[in-house]
Amino acid sequence: MAYRGRLAPSPTGYLHLGHALTFWVAAERARMHDGELILRIDDLDQSRSRPKFVAGVVEDLRWFGLSWSEGPDCGGAFGPYFQSARTDRYEEALNTLLERGCLFSCRCSRRDIRSAIQAPHAADDEPVYPGTCRTLVPREDPLTRGVTWRFRVPDGERIGFVDHCRGSVGWVAGRDFGDFVVWRSDGVPGYQLACVVDDAAMGITEVVRGEDLLLSTARQLLLYRALGLAPPGFFHSPLMNDDRGVRLAKRHAALGLRQLREEGWSAEDLRQLPAFRDLLGRGLQAGVAPKTP
Ligand code: GLU
Repeated sequence: MAYRGRLAPSPTGYLHLGHALTFWVAAERARMHDGELILRIDDLDQSRSRPKFVAGVVEDLRWFGLSWSEGPDCGGAFGPYFQSARTDRYEEALNTLLERGCLFSCRCSRRDIRSAIQAPHAADDEPVYPGTCRTLVPREDPLTRGVTWRFRVPDGERIGFVDHCRGSVGWVAGRDFGDFVVWRSDGVPGYQLACVVDDAAMGITEVVRGEDLLLSTARQLLLYRALGLAPPGFFHSPLMNDDRGVRLAKRHAALGLRQLREEGWSAEDLRQLPAFRDLLGRGLQAGVAPKTP
């Protein structure tokens, strides 16, 4: 099977150097395997996505030197795929999960969950769902507004995989992560579900993303299994921190690609920055040797 990777930005802000690093790793992985790369815009959350960010993200990726080898025609160049145009696929997957008894409807607010939890949770992850609505029998029509659908995780099962960057990793369902949202109460498919449906439908053979999403991969492996889909390989790339050790986020405007460009940096200057080269080298050399999927 030929290698197929993807770049999957969310258009909720402009890209910073940390995104550029992860996407550069993804492009290198595709290049090393003589594979294909596609661009998918994860724009399901219409309350946070903005057309100006879609255009900005595509422009910044191109400026940084990234390209993709497939996609809808977009004025003579390959354009992105958009998750917002693919919602029927997510509905179909939601129905499959409902039929298979994998989900329960949940009416807890964030505050309900916060006040019911006892265990601490990872700073960059959500609290483990306390199970309040877990045993309720679903009565709602799946797409009724105001109802959140959660995936019931197999408590106590170890979910492990061999990350192509970090080697063997694993978590315990119900302890390290809990029942997670696959469909939001505002009618928006959850990230985990949409990502799995698309990565499978798009024939992605290796998902390259930041290591902040390692735990999401454990959740997604449960979805692959429940939907009867073969999972891709995973490569979680090291993240970039600022000079105080804080992970780069969209609020670090000073390290935004467009800001750096306006200040006169060229893409090549940025790619040659020691921090960039160091993390890129560490990411690409770490873990198991690349293998043909
Ligand atoms: N759109 C998601 C993000 O930007 C994609 C994550 C992924 O690569 O799966 O965080």
